Parts: sequence; C-alpha cells; structure tokens
Amino acid sequence: MTNRAAPGRYDLHTHSNVSDGTTSPAEIAAEAKEVGLSGFALTDHDTTDGWEEARQAAAHHGLEFLPGIELTTSYGPKSVHLLVYGPEEHYEPLQAQLDWLRNSRLERASEMIRRLSIDYTLDWDMLLEELQTGKVQSAGRPHLADVLVEAGYFRDRSHAFETALSTTSPYYLPASYFDTLEAIRLVRDGGGFPVLAHPAAFRMKAPISRELMRTFARAGLGGVEIRHPENRGDWITPIHDEANRLGLIMTGASDYHGAGKPNRLGEESTPQETLDIIRSLVATPR
Ligand code: AMP
Ligand code: ZN
Ligand code: FE
Ligand code: FE
Repeated sequence: MTNRAAPGRYDLHTHSNVSDGTTSPAEIAAEAKEVGLSGFALTDHDTTDGWEEARQAAAHHGLEFLPGIELTTSYGPKSVHLLVYGPEEHYEPLQAQLDWLRNSRLERASEMIRRLSIDYTLDWDMLLEELQTGKVQSAGRPHLADVLVEAGYFRDRSHAFETALSTTSPYYLPASYFDTLEAIRLVRDGGGFPVLAHPAAFRMKAPISRELMRTFARAGLGGVEIRHPENRGDWITPIHDEANRLGLIMTGASDYHGAGKPNRLGEESTPQETLDIIRSLVATPR
C-alpha cells in the first residue's frame, strides 16, 4: 500500500525533463500519487511543452493538475524567478516571450561553454547530446553540470553548482534579461497568476526586500512561495509579514528536479483552499 498523507495537499513547483528535471511529466504524476499528494503543478523553466503529458498522467492517477511555468526574469542585476499559474496556453505574446527566453538560454549556454572550455575539456556537441537524450526544451546550468559530471570533473549537479557553475564563478552568465515588472504584466494580460518563487533562498546574496515586494505587488504579483526547502528561516519572516500586509497568496512547494537536486516531491505543499483561489483567478485552471 502506498503511504497516504492528509487530503488536499498540492506541490505547486516541479520540473520535468522538458526543462532541467530528470523525470518525465508522467513520472512526476506517478510519484505524486505515490507520496500521497492530491495534485501538482508542472512549472518547467520557460516552456509549456510538458503540460499535456502531465495533464493526462494526472487524470490517469486521479490527481488534480495545475499548469504552470517558472519564468526567468531580472530586476536590474537581481535574478527573479516567477511561478506562473494557469495562463492561456496559446496566448501569442507570452509564447513569443518564452521562445525568446529559450533562445537566450541556448546563447548563454554556448557562451558559458566557451568560457568553461578554457579550463575544462568540453564542447557544444557534448551539450547538444545531453539535451537530445531527453525532450529538453529549455537549456540551463543543470545540463552543463551533467556534461561536467559525465566528463568526470564533479560528483553530481550540486558539486558543479557549488564550484564551476556558481553565480560567482568566472564562467557564469545570467540566463536572460527579461524585466520582472514587464513579465508580471504580460502574465496577467494572458490570464495567468504570478507568484514570486523562493524569495528567501539561501543561495541569494540577500532576500527579496519588502520594498521590492510592494513594487511587484503594484505591478500585479499575486502570491509568494513562503514555504520552499531553500528559503532561509530568518529571511522569510519579514517576507511573510509583508505578504500578509499586501494580501498576497502564500504557497508551499518542493521545487522538485527528480534526481537533479536533493528536494523531494511534496516535502512542502499548498493546501486545497489556496489552490481553489488560484484556480478561480486564471484562464487555464487545469
Ligand atoms: P539556470 O536557470 O540555468 O541558471 O539554472 C538554475 C536552475 O538550476 C534552477 O532551477 C535550480 O533549481 C537548479 N539548481 C540550482 N542549484 C542546483 C544544484 N545544487 N543542483 C541541481 N540543480 C540546481
Ligand atoms: Zn530548474
Ligand atoms: Fe527557481
Ligand atoms: Fe524551480
């Protein structure tokens, strides 16, 4: 018998091998069933390509599915990840922006490979091979990490992220420059609900400030990911207070990446009533 948790728990932040997770959308659905979740959102980086597979697999397992995207944005020099729930899938301006973001990711990967190849033996073909083993639509540092691990330079993705691929390494480049406020407005225009991802992640130089939260909220931010395995306890308290003041919805999620990261599916989650609110506000609620 599989283990059953309390009903009405949803993991609203997961990545499949359509971006930089290691399991397929259908496998995430099967695992969500196994760990006793009532449903999940698929939030691959800058793509909606996994939605249909996840939707069908969720239905097969009797689970609820919420379509999502994790959008790569920046506010000045600050990298800001936005979880976007339920936008209209074929809203042209959003899909055009996703195309642009995925292209920027490829160009960025190419330049990072050029920089890395000064000190490591690796090339573009090795990355292409890595991307083509699955159905990856969105290239990122985790794929560069896989190439470096396979070449024997590092133990695993985390080891590569701590060293050659860290944001302070000379090989690093940001994934793109897509203004956070523009992104929030675009998402709202497309019927989506934007939630600020991991606002107090320990890898950031500093947490998202209250002032920035107010700026994002004025542009249309709808929620904040208060419970995330990487949020620092001492950093999240003021963010929680400010979210309350601003009337933002609060979510919890694992940021599952399969075997690519230690985060376990369902280790943080969102209750039924919060999912219901999000669903009532979006163009594509399932
Ligand atoms: P990128 O967007 O290409 O800069 O890559 C960032 C992605 O890599 C995010 O989705 C992170 O969750 C993921 N990531 C960050 N740290 C690690 C790690 N230590 N191991 C595996 N993946 C990581
Ligand atoms: Zn990721
Ligand atoms: Fe993120
Ligand atoms: Fe993520």
